[in-house]
Amino acid sequence: MRRRRPAARQRAVKRARPTRTMLAAMAALAQEARERAHAPYSRFKVGAALKTRTGEIVTGCNIENASYGLSMCAERVAVFKAVSEGLEDFDVITVVADSKRITPPCGPCRQILWEYCGDILVHMTDLKGRSRTMRLAELLPLPFDGGHL
Ligand SMILES: [Zn+2]
Repeated sequence: MRRRRPAARQRAVKRARPTRTMLAAMAALAQEARERAHAPYSRFKVGAALKTRTGEIVTGCNIENASYGLSMCAERVAVFKAVSEGLEDFDVITVVADSKRITPPCGPCRQILWEYCGDILVHMTDLKGRSRTMRLAELLPLPFDGGHL
């Protein structure tokens, strides 16, 4: 069994910015995943696409439950799918939603992303083609992680 590198060490890895073409491809995959969202309660569909540095892409959609607290966000579905498949060393996540403002990952997703992805690039898009890209460290300043334990 491989040991996952702590996020703190991943931050030291050289950052290569993804191309517009790559971000567009990831947004398209995230939109496809969004269509598979199970959101009968909120009707707020979200899709995500998570990429490794070697180019593997794993998608996720939000999955709700009648017991609301059991619902899972698209970002975490993508991360957990990827981790369960043995993938690591992620560099970009794309999140697609349809709302008045660009939708960023929620607090718990930011924490999970930090744990497994470190200071990943977060590309937030919507169905109108608007987008915003930020580093996770901007979205989660002063993060709590294994370095504190
Ligand atoms: Zn979330």
